[in-house]
Amino acid sequence: MIVPVQKDDDLLLDIGAADVRDGHLRLWWLGQSGVLVQFDGAHLLLDPYLSDSLTVKYANTDTPHVRMTERVIDPARLDFIDVVTSSHNHTDHLDAETLRPLLHANSGLTLVIAEANRAFVASRLAIDPATPVGLAMGQATEQGPFRIEAVPAAHEALAPEYAGFIVRCGAWTLYHSGDTVRFDGMADLLRPHAIDVAVLPINGRAPERRVAGNLDAVEAATLGRDIGARVVIPCHYEMFTFNTADPATFVAACAALGQRGDVLRCGEQWHSSALDAT
Ligand SMILES: [Zn+2]
Repeated sequence: MIVPVQKDDDLLLDIGAADVRDGHLRLWWLGQSGVLVQFDGAHLLLDPYLSDSLTVKYANTDTPHVRMTERVIDPARLDFIDVVTSSHNHTDHLDAETLRPLLHANSGLTLVIAEANRAFVASRLAIDPATPVGLAMGQATEQGPFRIEAVPAAHEALAPEYAGFIVRCGAWTLYHSGDTVRFDGMADLLRPHAIDVAVLPINGRAPERRVAGNLDAVEAATLGRDIGARVVIPCHYEMFTFNTADPATFVAACAALGQRGDVLRCGEQWHSSALDAT
């Protein structure tokens, strides 16, 4: 089992120590597509999966979800979160065992979803359907310092149930694609957003896995280049043994394309000063 570079108390200490209002954006990769964004004293969680619910659900089936990386933090300990997003309804992006403890620990927490998923989300989380902020594609919401806009995603087909989110805060623009393959017009749609940081999946497509596919490592690096992202941070690997990718393939693809790619280890902090010299 991969041990996060920092977890539990160490992770919380790092997040707390980093919380200075200096105009920089900081983020932590929490495994799979989970990213914690910190800006100007506010905290946004994107697609957290911080439980073993899928391992339990698929035990003794022909698609066992064997964890590769230890859980980085108990969601009940994340009691400083302002906003959490869910890009689509698959459990690694909409996990009741993660989101219910988060909602309990953060009384003012705003949940941002694709509007098309409202009824499903409310049912899975056992919450009032009026609670989430639902966005149709192209719609945006302002939550503290974060402006969050929903953009299309194709997992593997375009549908209103699959979203990515473009997050603006201060001088920074972050794109969290959710689960998606590349679709026609995707780069033209994204390029005008002048994305600094693109968080993209790299696990690719493999029909024998019997799960919907994503960008692979080469496609993620290529999309990053084509949309003009200053850096691509890969995600969606090293969570389940049956559905992972080698980040070294991503590093090689970035090198070949002249695209910056920063690979994080689970629990590692990324700081926007990394882009100062670029
Ligand atoms: Zn996924």
